[in-house]
Amino acid sequence: MAKRDYYDVLGVPKTATDAEIKSAYRKKAKECHPDLNQTDKTAETRFKELNEANEVLSDPDKRAKYDQYGFDGPIAQGFGGAGTGDFGGFSGFGDFGNIFDSIFGSGAGGATRRDGASQGDDLRHDIAVSFEEAAAGCQKTFEFIRNENCDTCGGTGAKPGTSAQTCPMCHGTGQVRQSGGFMVTVRTCPTCHGEGKIVKEKCADCSGTGRVRKRRTATVKIPAGIDDGQTIVMRGQGEPGARGGPAGDLYVRVSVRPHKLFKREGTTLLLDLPITLSQAALGAEIDVPTLNKTVKYRIPEGTQNDSEFRLKGYGLPSLRGGGNGDLLLRVKVEVPRKLSEKQKELLRQFENSLTGKEYENKKSFVDKLKGMFP
Ligand SMILES: [Zn+2]
Ligand SMILES: [Zn+2]
Repeated sequence: MAKRDYYDVLGVPKTATDAEIKSAYRKKAKECHPDLNQTDKTAETRFKELNEANEVLSDPDKRAKYDQYGFDGPIAQGFGGAGTGDFGGFSGFGDFGNIFDSIFGSGAGGATRRDGASQGDDLRHDIAVSFEEAAAGCQKTFEFIRNENCDTCGGTGAKPGTSAQTCPMCHGTGQVRQSGGFMVTVRTCPTCHGEGKIVKEKCADCSGTGRVRKRRTATVKIPAGIDDGQTIVMRGQGEPGARGGPAGDLYVRVSVRPHKLFKREGTTLLLDLPITLSQAALGAEIDVPTLNKTVKYRIPEGTQNDSEFRLKGYGLPSLRGGGNGDLLLRVKVEVPRKLSEKQKELLRQFENSLTGKEYENKKSFVDKLKGMFP
């Protein structure tokens, strides 16, 4: 199913204020809350869609990214075996998919299938990279803790040499039916807690749980151009599934440390660069630092404070290909301080030499002022 635009989901215009978004979300959440719509199968889906839209639009950062990139902001990474995965397709906006699954899914993890198999829990790991590493791309190896099937008992929880027995209460289905009046309800078997099996003699290594905590190492390939807060999904690297279900995913959230000089907006690199009064008035060739070298750039005569110049292709790479963004250079004209008497005298001479047409804004201001106070 194609994803719907978040603004459409909430039924608000793109210009909506935070308060309008909040109120639209509350109203819609009441309409489709699964607890209030137990007979309506689509309610849960709509509620998830609504929460996802709200999660993004109520957060100024996420909203700005969504406005700029749409659903393509975050990235997903396929993962082959124990090595480094290749860069995969795009997934949702980071990791709320699993958050909502864990709210709505039955039991510990995702949905439980009819045969009792369920997907393992997703895991999250936070990683920090420098601004330069994010721009150039890098690989990071990190350690994380994961519950895994116990090797001693093969995940059954039964002491080696013994085996788990089929639960006599539910006959291995993990569910019991109860009828009362017109209603037949199905609930998790209280004897085996939905496992379908009962362990009489527990495995000592895992205390009968079938799971042990293991410290693991993973290497994630961080693509050039990744932005702060984006998430890489390592498929199948989460916790193992139950009863043959697939493993969960490992969500690696990348935070990008700020740079001393640069800021970024999407693929545009922003730089404020101080210039002198004379450089601004006379024009000058200035040295502009970029991500990996300094380049010469000519600013024209009469450059004003806060003037912006675009250096094409000196920005950050796009995650979707198609080359680099631009560097947006903003000049900050600095008025000199701590002048010597001689320098001050030169400036006085300069001031006396003015004819009146050198300062356009000042002239127009003075013209407007005329006649205001007759
Ligand atoms: Zn064990
Ligand atoms: Zn049972």
